[in-house]
Amino acid sequence: MERAAQLSAACRHEGKVADYIPALACVAPDQFGMAVATIDGGVHCVGDGETRFSIQSISKVFLLTMAYGSYGEDLWKRVGQHPSTNPFNSLIELELERGVPRNPFLNPGALAVADALLSRHTHLESAMVSLMRELSGSADLNYDSEVFNSELRSSSRHHAAAYLMQSHGNFSNEVGEVVRAYCASCAIEASCVELARAGLFLANGGRDIASGRQLLSAREAQRVCALMLTTGTYEYSGMTAFAIGLPTKSGVGGGVLAVIPGRGCICAWSPRLDPRGNSVRAMKALELVSNTAGLSVFA
Ligand code: GLU
Repeated sequence: MERAAQLSAACRHEGKVADYIPALACVAPDQFGMAVATIDGGVHCVGDGETRFSIQSISKVFLLTMAYGSYGEDLWKRVGQHPSTNPFNSLIELELERGVPRNPFLNPGALAVADALLSRHTHLESAMVSLMRELSGSADLNYDSEVFNSELRSSSRHHAAAYLMQSHGNFSNEVGEVVRAYCASCAIEASCVELARAGLFLANGGRDIASGRQLLSAREAQRVCALMLTTGTYEYSGMTAFAIGLPTKSGVGGGVLAVIPGRGCICAWSPRLDPRGNSVRAMKALELVSNTAGLSVFA
């Protein structure tokens, strides 16, 4: 990891910090951290691996976990499992697919998942924060209210997606409530170490290592990983499978979480993004680590 951190520094000024959520634009752009957590309890981190950042779309993995654990295969009546060639906030396919988002990692897909969850959890924000605290082992982890309010103020597109789904009969709850719960989940702050720990259950057949709690069955965990591989880094997912070869989920806060099935979880973070919304340096660092250590699931 140290070597990947050094080599990836070559691209430390490439890309731009996300600014469509105004509060995210204030982050110091050149930070970089990476952490690995293994299923035998080891944790190792480099750089700013213990600095918290906005997890943004990485939260979609945990929203999906809660909903899949609760609804089982019925969840797929609400959201598909197909890659998309459109940006994560695009509404084009949503209309073409009659209100059923192509996958749970697009914004409309995550909103459909949040809607399904809100039908079973009155306080979805608290349920998400509790889950992240449990899985990361950090009792003080929370969402940042400034980032939350900032996204809420610029959430017309989330509302549009939700109303479009509602018009197709694929939305049950009050749109504003679902959008709030979704924005709060995205605004959760965690470090690379905390996220690597939180994702470990996916490397461990759906079972949380610390508590022994089975969050998902082994098959469900395997399917979440399959979706991360095919759709977790937006339109770049095919390239991610090619270059990194691991189930991966990125967020516009600059974090990227990668699962090494049966072994552990790596999280890399650096705020500057490529035009699709993936962190330039975090993706490079993951590529270097994966290739050097032969971690690809295809190896
Ligand atoms: N909260 C962000 C949004 O909905 C998440 C996007 C992302 O991280 O990809 O636009």
